[in-house]
Amino acid sequence: CYGIYAFNTELNDVEKIVANVTVMASGGAGHVYSATTNPVIATGDGMAMVYRAKGKVRNMEFIQFHPTALYHPGEYPSFLISEAVRGFGGVLRRKNGEEFMQEYDERRSLAPRDIVARAVDNEMKKSGDDFVYLDITMRKKADILKHFPNIYAKCLSIGIDMTKDYIPVTPASHYMCGGILVDEYGRSSIKNLYACGECSSTGLHGANRLASNSLLEATVFAHRIYQDAVENFNNNIIPENIPEWDSKGVTQSNEDVLVTHNLRELQKVMGDYVGIVRSDFRLERAHRRLFLIYQETEEFYKRNKVSVKLCELRNVIQTAYLVIKSAMQRKESRGLHFTTDYPNHADALIDTVF
Ligand SMILES: Cc1cc2nc3c(=O)[nH]c(=O)nc-3n(C[C@H](O)[C@H](O)[C@H](O)COP(=O)(O)OP(=O)(O)OC[C@H]3O[C@@H](n4cnc5c(N)ncnc54)[C@H](O)[C@@H]3O)c2cc1C
Repeated sequence: CYGIYAFNTELNDVEKIVANVTVMASGGAGHVYSATTNPVIATGDGMAMVYRAKGKVRNMEFIQFHPTALYHPGEYPSFLISEAVRGFGGVLRRKNGEEFMQEYDERRSLAPRDIVARAVDNEMKKSGDDFVYLDITMRKKADILKHFPNIYAKCLSIGIDMTKDYIPVTPASHYMCGGILVDEYGRSSIKNLYACGECSSTGLHGANRLASNSLLEATVFAHRIYQDAVENFNNNIIPENIPEWDSKGVTQSNEDVLVTHNLRELQKVMGDYVGIVRSDFRLERAHRRLFLIYQETEEFYKRNKVSVKLCELRNVIQTAYLVIKSAMQRKESRGLHFTTDYPNHADALIDTVF
């Protein structure tokens, strides 16, 4: 790797930036789904770029869904109702007020994220509702305000007083455990390209991330990358003949509706067919649908000037493709990947690498 082609949003043009060392630190891929807690930049850019550059990505099927994002249609990304609310006594309930987690796990509402997310997903599928409730009304108002001032203020801003009302919650994609395959120094399979943070797959999160580990991982690996990079910085000789970005023959698009439409369509396909519970049938369906969206978008990309939205759409499509292919390859249920066709662990633990 000798650097990047970067889209300069002020000049509306692509620049060549050469570098001895390049670090991909582009974050997660939550926006492969429409319901996500991730910031809007989480469009899988790093994973998609590295894959297109023939680098390796690993275990892209392991996507963590947070069970309790605030259900508030139209708000994008979703607001997270932290696990601490359940830790503080919060209980999940059906719309009719019944508690249900005891039917899924003896730890009830305190079961791990993946179990709670699957239970909520199942409850929503059974009832046809778009959410379940989180109830913390048994705690004193003063305690709730002291522990959760932001969540209280947010809920109140949309007319929910969590000291008296149940909070409507729904699962949302939260963290990508897979990503760019790196070694213990953050080195990717492409020479002089490192990856760090959520876009990388260090192996640390396995098939199921524990809450709060990702910032620690990013800090440790950023330091290791720095240590390795300062040692090897001068070994990368940059060739003279790296071409400028070639935008001949493209025009400024006035059809941005295609970009928005294809993103929404892809997110719907992923949410419906490649969500918390998967099956071969749904994955194949998603794969077919995605191919159409891919073809259309690539055609559009070749003819039009790049824009942030267009680049992100291509990257979301590429990432979704990797998620589907990885999920299809894993003929077992493990960690965050659950499929009704293979509900048990396989004996051998095998990484999915593309
Ligand atoms: C609501 C929420 C709560 C969380 N709570 C915790 C927690 O308590 N503890 C914990 O450990 N983890 C938590 N996480 C996860 C953690 O925050 C993320 O995994 C972490 O912030 C990712 O850091 P990062 O540096 O990899 O990416 P980010 O912090 O997402 O940074 C990526 C950067 O890359 C830029 N970028 C992206 N694409 C491009 C591109 N194509 N070109 C140029 N720039 C680009 C973005 O603008 C951004 O600045 C939480 C996540 C969410 C969403």
